[in-house]
Amino acid sequence: MSAAAGAIRAALATQPRVDLATLPTPLEEGPRLPGGARLLVKRDDLSGLGMGGNKARKLEFLCGAAAARGVDTVVTVGAAQSNHARMTAAACARLGWEAHLVLGRSPSLESPAGNQLLSRLFGARLHVVDTEDWGELQHAAEDLSAKLTNAGRRVELIPMGGSTPVGALGFLGAWVELLDQCERRGELPSVVITASSTAGTHGGLLAGRSFCRAAGVPVPDLVAIGVAKGSPELAERARRLAEGCLCAAGLAPDAVADEPVEVDERAVGPGYAVPTEEADASIVWAARRAGWVLDRVYTGKAFAGMLMLDREGRFPSDRPVVFWHTGGQPALFAPGGAPDSGGWE
Ligand SMILES: *Cc1c(COP(=O)(O)O)cnc(C)c1O
Repeated sequence: MSAAAGAIRAALATQPRVDLATLPTPLEEGPRLPGGARLLVKRDDLSGLGMGGNKARKLEFLCGAAAARGVDTVVTVGAAQSNHARMTAAACARLGWEAHLVLGRSPSLESPAGNQLLSRLFGARLHVVDTEDWGELQHAAEDLSAKLTNAGRRVELIPMGGSTPVGALGFLGAWVELLDQCERRGELPSVVITASSTAGTHGGLLAGRSFCRAAGVPVPDLVAIGVAKGSPELAERARRLAEGCLCAAGLAPDAVADEPVEVDERAVGPGYAVPTEEADASIVWAARRAGWVLDRVYTGKAFAGMLMLDREGRFPSDRPVVFWHTGGQPALFAPGGAPDSGGWE
């Protein structure tokens, strides 16, 4: 392990944290990409907490900070099929806290499916708001937090996606975890690809990359595939979260300023959670070639974005590409969550 990676590990060890995720997640070899590069998949879908996904890493630090403040109730917020909300519900179940989930416009909760079914199973209270506007959802969550606080609860409000500097600490650690696994394999990937929607995953990885790069450690490129249209500031948000996350860890954030921040938004299609043909084709590709399950909202689009870069010749064939599997499988079991079988049977 490099000195820079050691410094990150040591800094993270001083942060309040609760043990929620099964780490390290596997780095699994897959089929070659059509362009010839080998594909490694970072299986954060196997992070364990409440059926897994990337939010487990953020929640370890977010809930650690909340526990240090003596919280007994968590309010969080997300889209109708929020993976983040589902995993927050699971974290609260484990910590003995009350969970309130403010969710965007959804079909009736009388027969909840996918993430909502699991969230209910984990004991969370679901508050559906008839909007898809992320700002309005955040306001509704703030109102609910104020109400619960007035009623005597000790409330932590975790914003959309858990994407705060503290949440991003989880992915600062994940960057080091990945470099460590690559070192053991004796190979350095050319590029790391991840889906990005609230930029916390990207921001944390970016923090790790810039800190290591500034210390002279060879690092792969990092490309975020945007999956939420209407976030033109996604790159700027990732940069701010990277800086905030290094500061929160007590590390110098200087290197982030001249770090290249790459967000590719071509795979998002018409909008967040709107299916695309390319994402559906990616879901089938990954399922049939490797038995991996991607979803229509995040990982299918990220994979489609990666295949697009592959077609453009971005990946040298003598070095592997890492695809960060951020999870999202429960959404497949909600209405409209899986590609229409007519397309592939
Ligand atoms: C939340 C989520 C993402 C995006 O992570 P951000 O940190 O919000 O950018 C990607 N994939 C899945 C499955 C998610 O649930």
